[in-house]
Amino acid sequence: MALELFNTMGRELQEFRPREAGKVGFYGCGPTVYNYAHIGNLRAFVFQDILERSLSYLGYEVNHVMNVTDIGHLAGDVDSGEDKMVATAKERGQSVLEIAKFYTDAFFADIDRLNIRRPGTICRATDHVNEMIELIRRIESNGHTYMSGGNLYFDVATFPAYGDLARLNLEDLKAGARIDVDENKRNPYDFVLWFTKSKFENQALTWDSPWGRGYPGWHIECSAMSMKYLGEQFDIHTGGIDHIAIHHTNEIAQSEGATGKQWVRYWLHNEFLVMDKGKMSKSSGNFLTLQTLMDEGYDPMDYRYFLLGGHYRSQLTFSWESMDSAKNSRKNLVQRVSAILESLGEAAASAADIAPEVPASSPAKPYLDRFRAALEQDLSTPRALSELQGLVRDQGLSAADVLSGIAAMDSVLALRLVDSARAMIAERRAAEAEIAADPRVEALIAERAEAKKAKNFAKADEIRNRLKDEGILLEDGPSGTIWRKA
Ligand code: AMP
Ligand code: ZN
Repeated sequence: MALELFNTMGRELQEFRPREAGKVGFYGCGPTVYNYAHIGNLRAFVFQDILERSLSYLGYEVNHVMNVTDIGHLAGDVDSGEDKMVATAKERGQSVLEIAKFYTDAFFADIDRLNIRRPGTICRATDHVNEMIELIRRIESNGHTYMSGGNLYFDVATFPAYGDLARLNLEDLKAGARIDVDENKRNPYDFVLWFTKSKFENQALTWDSPWGRGYPGWHIECSAMSMKYLGEQFDIHTGGIDHIAIHHTNEIAQSEGATGKQWVRYWLHNEFLVMDKGKMSKSSGNFLTLQTLMDEGYDPMDYRYFLLGGHYRSQLTFSWESMDSAKNSRKNLVQRVSAILESLGEAAASAADIAPEVPASSPAKPYLDRFRAALEQDLSTPRALSELQGLVRDQGLSAADVLSGIAAMDSVLALRLVDSARAMIAERRAAEAEIAADPRVEALIAERAEAKKAKNFAKADEIRNRLKDEGILLEDGPSGTIWRKA
């Protein structure tokens, strides 16, 4: 089978055909670093990671580029409102760049904790203002711009394909209500490429440009940086569904307005994570971070498992109950993997030591085939997870075959299964060593044996229960009583 992806451009599943056989250029919109990423944002990055890992698994060489927006993102997607970075900087009494650095570091710490592979190229907007200016000049020389009220605007009337991605109806829009009123615009869909007249006083970061000293609009950074690192045409662009109507629509107009060529072949968008109570957003302050989940006793892998349980194009509702259920399922899975490792005497092996190659003759192969088919069907992680669950529970397979299969699947799902199982084994062994070294346990077992001999069963049960509460289970056998860690 071939890989099929749902292309937002056209709204259909399409066979994936990269520009160059075996190679994929992929740009994912990155974070805006004026606050911590919330768990909804992190869904977008886990999705990018699944896409990147699936493509690699399917044999493509992937060039993954992600930006970090450290300037010019206004409080709405539209060209009005307060600059969020500047607002946070003001609040904290720090510089905009200090704020950006702090939250960029926090973002990458979250990414690492979620076992998201870092994109090969990570680029910051502030390092690419020259490229943005160059691109705006090309857009301008193709007649797509006008100056008004001190800002340079993109004139959507000059780009007939404007709105194709979002299926916007320009006529409705002209009549309609969508965007704020900016009297400098000829059309409400027009957007700013370069600001010289900031609506805000004391704009922190400004640059010289052919249009005067100022700063770039938000959308231009993604056009400029993706083209710098991936060329003027590339294969895949991702983001959350909120980016379809404005950000990506404007990115297309700018990029194709500059080059006159199709820019991106496949547009992939992840659905939102929503809260059971209201919308989660950075600007409203109503959001959960990964750290909050960890403070509540969840492992970042529990959250990753929870996300993979939903298809990326389905809305997911966050609740503590669903986190509990993800946590339990993952724990059961890790327990199975630890039993498999122990049965092989491989408790000490690290994930990296286990070959993920599964030969065609392996009895585990049918699971791997279905796993691959799940990925090829628009990255169906729920189906991929259920193949993993089936594999680890199949008693008819040898432990070694199962383990290679797990390693292969986990190169995409990235749930750190083998390492977590090793940690679980090590933890249990440490607890067992502690019990073995505790003379009190042996003394209680002897006391219980005496009680039983004296037919004092109430006391014998009381001792058994006391130890059980400490996680020590007693088992009576022909050669006496032994203990085992619960
Ligand atoms: P931002 O840092 O606001 O630019 O957002 C980073 C990424 O998160 C973008 O791709 C957004 O589309 C995406 N995103 C924002 N909110 C959510 C959400 N609640 N669920 C899933 N993705 C989201
Ligand atoms: Zn972008």
